[in-house]
Amino acid sequence: MNQIATLPKRVVVIGGGISGLAAAHRLCELDPACQVTLLEAGSRLGGVLETARRDGFLIERSADNFITNVPWAVDLCRRVGLSDQLLPTRSEQRNAMVVHAGRLERVPQGFMLMAPARLGPLLATPILSPWGKLRLLGEYFVPRRTESEDESLASFARRRLGREAFERIVQPLVGGIYAADPERLSLTATMPRFVEMERRWGGLIRGARHERSSETADATSDVAGARYGMFVAPRDGLASLVAAIAARLPEGSVRLGTRVESLSRGEQGGWVAKYSGNDGVATTLECDAVILAIGAPDAARLLEPIDNALAGELAAIEYAGTSIVSLAFRRDQVTHPLDGFGFVVPAIEKRPILAGSFSSVKFAGRAPQDTVLIRVFIGGALQSELAELDDHRLRQIALDELRSLIGARGEPLFADIARWPRSMPQYHLGHCQRVERIEAAVAHWPGLALAGNAYHGVGIPNCIHSGEMAAEEINRSMKAEG
Ligand SMILES: Cc1cc2nc3c(=O)[nH]c(=O)nc-3n(C[C@H](O)[C@H](O)[C@H](O)COP(=O)(O)OP(=O)(O)OC[C@H]3O[C@@H](n4cnc5c(N)ncnc54)[C@H](O)[C@@H]3O)c2cc1C
Repeated sequence: MNQIATLPKRVVVIGGGISGLAAAHRLCELDPACQVTLLEAGSRLGGVLETARRDGFLIERSADNFITNVPWAVDLCRRVGLSDQLLPTRSEQRNAMVVHAGRLERVPQGFMLMAPARLGPLLATPILSPWGKLRLLGEYFVPRRTESEDESLASFARRRLGREAFERIVQPLVGGIYAADPERLSLTATMPRFVEMERRWGGLIRGARHERSSETADATSDVAGARYGMFVAPRDGLASLVAAIAARLPEGSVRLGTRVESLSRGEQGGWVAKYSGNDGVATTLECDAVILAIGAPDAARLLEPIDNALAGELAAIEYAGTSIVSLAFRRDQVTHPLDGFGFVVPAIEKRPILAGSFSSVKFAGRAPQDTVLIRVFIGGALQSELAELDDHRLRQIALDELRSLIGARGEPLFADIARWPRSMPQYHLGHCQRVERIEAAVAHWPGLALAGNAYHGVGIPNCIHSGEMAAEEINRSMKAEG
């Protein structure tokens, strides 16, 4: 028997966010003998996922939940023993609100991002003018698009629902998810469901009604703007998911404070990662395969000496950043009933924030009795300069906005500020084609795989899926090599 073939395979995963963790975990599941090393530049695992505790509050410093209509996150939670800790959003107050003329108004019931499933609430909403409502109802008669090239979210929404519904409802709801410029956002890359609705049913009103009539009773309990019943969060925050995955990795497989500075091909055909640790000592690590679970610009830098064209495609994926100011108040400091999970802000309202999330209303256990925790999002592609203001200015903006919009009074119990520069990839027009080119180029390099939020979805479940798919691809290719 060939002795070399029996040597355990060595795989390096670069990046210890949820994508890299999922990749490392899956590699170990598939082949417990595989020597997996996960290199993370920062001093902790999780990447943008970070949970803080302060004075009895649980503060999610970025993502605060994930969707369950795709299986990957729920399934991983089950495998790492976290299933019984997943909390649904609270069943009361499942409403989304939108700022209209300086006030919070409910997003009309049954309006799912772009698909109006119920017409009654639309007719009653104060968010749209009579003309805006008429135009929106006219969506029923807007003909199908015949061109097949990629269309921006803004163009699609204006064409089908009218300018007012786009500016007042769709733009802020979508902006709250992707922190994006809707004029550049690819609909096919972000929300193919709506492209399909138009193609299949001829429009959004028709499609939404069709889908609604065939959905289960549970799904119909979801209300405005988002299907809140489909979202869950670990009771102890997303950091507990990160910790549960890390606990399943072999001892010594994770190296923190190690930023990979270069990548090259090994003499025997494998890969060599060079990094310097916290002590500044340069180290090289040879391996049979490498998974890059880092942002596209970081992957571009590492791959540039190896494949310039591939690096160019990766570098062309743009990113936006946001900052989150979490403010804690006594409940009696806020006059608004907080009868929703939060609000989004249309760009035409010209306010310095993107959205506000009522964390302690959304999930149990986020704030002590008689207090509230509210997260304010600042920045995004349309106001990127605001995310970079200093802490004092960010806190002041968040506080001023909450004073004006929900009647917050006095000083908060505390403010927590989290900064996520260049953290949200922007799936601009042509994104799907770019990702196809990237994947075709990667396929030319044996033992190389990419994972992360830059390619097939930014949500946590998609990131987990990308990591697991990369692990499966590497495992398959190493098995084929023998
Ligand atoms: C503010 C915000 C709110 C969000 N809210 C939600 C939400 O509610 N629900 C949801 O599903 N999704 C949400 N998302 C999206 C989701 O959280 C992210 O897409 C996902 O966590 C990204 O994970 P990742 O592992 O791909 O990347 P990252 O978390 O960015 O991890 C990449 C890691 O790679 C490391 N790294 C980079 N370069 C190197 C190098 N050269 N060497 C070694 N290590 C390196 C970095 O330090 C980092 O830890 C949100 C995102 C943000 C920013």
